[in-house]
Amino acid sequence: MKSAAIIGAGITGLTAGFYLQKAGIPVVIYEASDRPGGAIRSIRKESYLAECGPNTILETCPEIPQLIQDAGLVSRRLYTDSNAEARYVVRDRKPVAMPAHQLGIFTSPLLGWKSKWALLREPFVAPRRDGAEESLADFVTRRLSREFLDRLVDALAAGIYAGDPARLSITHAFPRLKALEDQFGSLIKGQMALARRRKKTGEVARDRAPKFSFDEGLEVLPATLAARLKESLQLSSPVQAMTRSPDGTWQVLSSRGTTSHQAILYCGTGHQLPSLGIHAPAQLDVSVFSEIRYPPVSSVVLGFRRADVAHACSGFGMLIPRMENFRILGTLFSSSLFPNRAPEGHVLLTSYVGGERFPELAGRTEGELVDIVCEDLKILLGIHAPPVFKRVSFHPKAIPQYNVGHGRFKAQLDSMENRAPGLFFAGHFRDGVSLGDSIAAGVAAARRVQNFFS
Ligand SMILES: Cc1cc2nc3c(=O)[nH]c(=O)nc-3n(C[C@H](O)[C@H](O)[C@H](O)COP(=O)(O)OP(=O)(O)OC[C@H]3O[C@@H](n4cnc5c(N)ncnc54)[C@H](O)[C@@H]3O)c2cc1C
Repeated sequence: MKSAAIIGAGITGLTAGFYLQKAGIPVVIYEASDRPGGAIRSIRKESYLAECGPNTILETCPEIPQLIQDAGLVSRRLYTDSNAEARYVVRDRKPVAMPAHQLGIFTSPLLGWKSKWALLREPFVAPRRDGAEESLADFVTRRLSREFLDRLVDALAAGIYAGDPARLSITHAFPRLKALEDQFGSLIKGQMALARRRKKTGEVARDRAPKFSFDEGLEVLPATLAARLKESLQLSSPVQAMTRSPDGTWQVLSSRGTTSHQAILYCGTGHQLPSLGIHAPAQLDVSVFSEIRYPPVSSVVLGFRRADVAHACSGFGMLIPRMENFRILGTLFSSSLFPNRAPEGHVLLTSYVGGERFPELAGRTEGELVDIVCEDLKILLGIHAPPVFKRVSFHPKAIPQYNVGHGRFKAQLDSMENRAPGLFFAGHFRDGVSLGDSIAAGVAAARRVQNFFS
């Protein structure tokens, strides 16, 4: 019977394994650490529920609700409170609400008159058609304005990638924005055309897609998939090498010994790929993947007494552009997003420190990180008492940066898949950095392995 090995039990590997097993294909999932879920980790303590990694899943494609249904988790899914949609961006050291409607930007104090004028002018800015790859910063400055970049887009890049707009690629990190320019010649004309189409089809805009978690946090999903996979999931089993035999099978060397499979799906991280020995007749060079930047990030989850917090903290959270000179990248209003995240009369806030903006801060001690966050939150949210709950998680290699030139990594993965039959790659370093992207990548990878077998 043909079997598949999956390397990595993050959400990508677990999703792929779950669907391969469902299709009757024997799988073994090798996971280096002693727990499934990769970046996802939820901790319930002292009546608080802290998310140490990601916080929400954006329901951007049908594969996501399908997985929740197939995993039997519909009754445990919690969508964000409809009152928690408000997002804030810091301006002049205060959180300012983002306009609820796109036209609201013209009356919002977030941008000055020059940027508002730039928005009116944008449909008349000629699209760039020379095929050159631009950074997010260059793209936004060319089509809109420097202020638009510094005040809004810089905050957004920190919120999604913990990244630097001067390095992130518009083509790879924000492909939908680039597609608007390519297809419609303008971001505004493109947005209007898509809005008209959505009115007809009933589709939901990506930025309006529902967001969810589970009653006991995001870890419910990987824990459930892991339980369904039973002994197919081998924890504390780092894979060291894989070798293609002359008969076409793959030998997988892990800390548990060598096993034989007809296909291998790599769902680990990009930065760990170069440490794997891949021996195949075709020369496969994985050393290049050490060049993918993964800046460190610390997630600092703090609980406060409601009475000690001046700001209402109702909404999704706030993002902070670099020019505002704070050390945190942004804060999620976790207890406003979902019920049961903090005890009655308390507030739970999740702040991020580090990223490309301040990589040197992310590895500070727990005490220093709590102090950094409290100093910033004192000014931004009017918090005048120390936290009553703390949970700090350090991610030394947090989020892969889809910087200018990222296409060479994707091309190398395509080439390796073509030259080594039975070897597949999926995950956050190739298919998009969000959990929704990872779920869709896991589903698609399971299909590719099934097709290979048939
Ligand atoms: C702090 C933080 C906050 C985030 N917030 C959000 C959010 O709110 N919403 C959102 O959509 N996304 C968010 N993300 C991104 C999202 O969490 C990730 O993109 C996603 O979890 C990636 O899943 P993955 O399975 O591809 O990789 P991972 O979760 O990294 O899993 C890879 C797994 O492979 C294992 N592995 C690697 N090499 C080997 C080997 N040789 N042998 C065996 N096992 C190996 C690793 O141990 C790991 O468990 C956040 C990420 C971070 C770090």
